[in-house]
Amino acid sequence: MESSSFKDYEKHLDHPLFNNAIQLIEDAGKLIKADPNVIARLKRPKRALSVSVPVRMDNGAVEVFMGFRVQYNSTLGPYKGGVRYHEEVTMGEVTGLASLMMLKNSVLGLPYGGGKGGISVDPNRLSRNEKQSLTRRYTSELGPFIGPNKDIPAPDMGTDSQTMAWMMDTYSQEQGYAQPGVVTGKPVEIGGSLGRVGATGLGAVFVLERLLERNSRTVMGSRIAIQGFGNVGSHAALYSFERGGRVVAVSDVSGGIFNGDGLKIPELIEYIKTNKIVKGFPGSQPISNEDLLALDVDILMPCAMDGVINESNCHTIKAKYVVEGANGPVTNSATKILHEKGIQIAPDIIANGGGVIVSYFEWVQDTMSFFWEEDEINKKLHTIIIKAFDEVWKMSQEKGVHLRAAAMATSVNRLQKAMLLRGLYPR
Ligand code: GLU
Repeated sequence: MESSSFKDYEKHLDHPLFNNAIQLIEDAGKLIKADPNVIARLKRPKRALSVSVPVRMDNGAVEVFMGFRVQYNSTLGPYKGGVRYHEEVTMGEVTGLASLMMLKNSVLGLPYGGGKGGISVDPNRLSRNEKQSLTRRYTSELGPFIGPNKDIPAPDMGTDSQTMAWMMDTYSQEQGYAQPGVVTGKPVEIGGSLGRVGATGLGAVFVLERLLERNSRTVMGSRIAIQGFGNVGSHAALYSFERGGRVVAVSDVSGGIFNGDGLKIPELIEYIKTNKIVKGFPGSQPISNEDLLALDVDILMPCAMDGVINESNCHTIKAKYVVEGANGPVTNSATKILHEKGIQIAPDIIANGGGVIVSYFEWVQDTMSFFWEEDEINKKLHTIIIKAFDEVWKMSQEKGVHLRAAAMATSVNRLQKAMLLRGLYPR
């Protein structure tokens, strides 16, 4: 019987992203006729940490933030996944994201388990010093639980290579020697990898190219709308533009911009370096986020938050292909409706896997202290992500299911094999 404290614990994890992930794991289990004991284990995180993160703010007052790190599963290797700074971060959201990292690393064939971290904070209201103090204290609180062979954080929404540099330094100071392999997504000067910054966007475009190829189409001349113009969205836009794609609309927190002939993405990237937001970009007209999602385009790439395409708005989608640059942008019920409408979705756990794939290369390079050229990295990224996509495409054709179902089934199948080989401890 379940104890009442276990039910409290479950309440703590209640989040649409995690609830969606649990459903996906159950469905995958049915599709591959998995061992129910394996599915039961995959539906719960192995370990979940909450830490308080006190920070002396610039005005002298101390503010206490809540931080989390969920070590979801380590069947295939050390825990691996990003750290998110966002006002709405909760234990439930981090758990959902950690479960997606487990599924992502498995479907990509990486030797990693799944983890994710986050702090409930709006990073835009922090000064550089405050952000540094927050990051260092959070890292110190996680100290006993992370490490190059234990759990390897990386950037996610609201964090970047500078955040990773502070994490790497804090951990190394406390250990007494340099430990570059404790995080990935670091600046290249301290053991980061070439190609890591643009890797998620590049991986998404590799997947887009393959998806279109399977449908006898090309990126060249396709009309594309991109929601979110952070690290993932801006690179996805740039690499699509370089391949002759017509990126007609992009958006960020300030709203969206539209140009039916295609936005000049390299100029837009320059523009936001000084203006910070896409709004007001010369030669574009404003468009709301909802209207962007409903544009009559060939391809839609949601590269911001989870749950943006859901039951209430998915009927408005006109794109034929959706490539998920974000984690969990299309809910399960919306996936089903879009699939019935004949819209193909390249699922997040493959489409945005470029980031963690190059994180893996960074970690390998740190271990060897030998660094590769960017060309080699991009080539290896292409090999891994296309292999995963092709495997999933094949299964979706054979079983007559959509790509997300096939991706989840492939992932859970790999996890199941490894779990059964390792067995249940103590028995
Ligand atoms: N935060 C990224 C993701 O969601 C990258 C994770 C990593 O590199 O470990 O996949």
